[in-house]
Amino acid sequence: MLRNLLGASATADTMLEAIARDAHETGDKTGRPVFGDAVMEAMRTVPRAAFVPEAEASFAYENRPLPIGHGQTISQPYIVALMSELLDVEPGARILEVGTGCGYQTAVLCALGATVYSVEVVEPLATAAAVRLKALGYAKATVRAGDGRTGWPEEAPFDGIVVTAAAASVPPALVVQLGPGGCLVIPVGRAAETQHLQRIEKRADGLSAAKSLLPVAFVPLTRGPA
Ligand code: SAH
Repeated sequence: MLRNLLGASATADTMLEAIARDAHETGDKTGRPVFGDAVMEAMRTVPRAAFVPEAEASFAYENRPLPIGHGQTISQPYIVALMSELLDVEPGARILEVGTGCGYQTAVLCALGATVYSVEVVEPLATAAAVRLKALGYAKATVRAGDGRTGWPEEAPFDGIVVTAAAASVPPALVVQLGPGGCLVIPVGRAAETQHLQRIEKRADGLSAAKSLLPVAFVPLTRGPA
């Protein structure tokens, strides 16, 4: 217990337990009190320690965000699992991610069998994530540097789009690039205190229905380093 508090003993197993606990506690809001086996297995297999700076390695399996440099973070494991769960990824799905960061969510989506196109606005983070994902064998991930608010039109339509930084409002290009039946998972809100995770489904008739699920705290979507 004490070692847990000090953060030295968190393992992939304790991380999975923490995710399951959070899923259960937030289930009334998210509609997903228990995450699917595939998502939990992906969270077990992707080595989070390989995605954090060396100085943070001993905290890698704690259920919290960690700094990755450039003023950015690796998301909390529970949030990564939740967003993956809400996307309902089928093997072979084409997913767009906005906000690669260190590439952890990208790897989890690859582990679920998706082909992932990921855009990161901070160029050195994009480069490092691409190198890391390749070295770890996530061959179905493609990363590019740029402003992800305009999506990746050349590769659209997507079965799912996940945005891992908060938008003041939903970028219209992302809705356009979603295929019929596809879904967009995105934190929306101007201030950190008022962000909500939204799940927006594009119906076969092209109309989309948004559901506000959970209060969250993401870094904001930006135009890139000033
Ligand atoms: N998916 C990451 C989360 C990284 S944090 C994970 O698995 O941990 C969010 C990332 O979004 C940051 O790296 C930030 O630089 C990036 N970002 C912010 N605005 C962006 C934009 N307009 N386009 C693409 N990436 C953006």
